[in-house]
Amino acid sequence: MLTRPNRWYLKYAHIIAYNIIFWYCSVMTNFDPTNPIFVSTHLDDVVLSCAYYVGEHPGTQVATVMAGAPDIELDDWSARTTGHLRAQDALRVRTAEDNAAMEALGAVPTRLDLWDLPYLNGQPRDPDTVYRALATSLPSEVESIVGPLGLTHPDHRVVSDACIRLARDLGLALYLYADLPYGHTYPRNITDRLAELAVRGLRLTQLDPVKSAVDKPAVCDLYATQMDELRGSFKTFDASLSAPEQYWRVQ
Ligand SMILES: [Zn+2]
Repeated sequence: MLTRPNRWYLKYAHIIAYNIIFWYCSVMTNFDPTNPIFVSTHLDDVVLSCAYYVGEHPGTQVATVMAGAPDIELDDWSARTTGHLRAQDALRVRTAEDNAAMEALGAVPTRLDLWDLPYLNGQPRDPDTVYRALATSLPSEVESIVGPLGLTHPDHRVVSDACIRLARDLGLALYLYADLPYGHTYPRNITDRLAELAVRGLRLTQLDPVKSAVDKPAVCDLYATQMDELRGSFKTFDASLSAPEQYWRVQ
């Protein structure tokens, strides 16, 4: 008669797994930047990605990089979502929505005058321009930069790289956040980007995930013109708003 091996440990696999995860989480450290500035690529990225943290820390500074527009008409994302073909009219609508979201979170916005990618008319983005714009706008009291990990969207990557370079050049603490909804819908993009940064010699430590009592879906709804298009573009969009936020310390 065949006897089955006594794999007793399978019976307790879930308990073992839970304890390994609990141990791993218990050695992670809190996301607790000193005098930070959060860097947003577009007029909604920090709210989509960091509202649970920012809303719990009133007075947090948020700098949005691509917050300018040329005096042209263009049928792009902003035109479709806002109903305004003229770029500066569309920008006005999106800035008003961002002001409402910043106010709801108690955050302090600053906006750089760089143009969104569609307005560049196919010209490549100059990384030095982004770096210089960020460097000249940085308040002197800032001690930490919290930038995007730089997922999927080419402008998110350029802004992420500018944050990495700026923190190194100025000797500031650097943290990166998972760009949402990109990182939630396409988790493979997170692992690819982490691997790329590791090859570049950066050491990234994942910190405790952040979730708070902030009503993040309600704050995101303040970007009223953006919600339908975002839901249509990202299949896990709503789930990404209730997921814990992810941050890394970079050294
Ligand atoms: Zn964006």
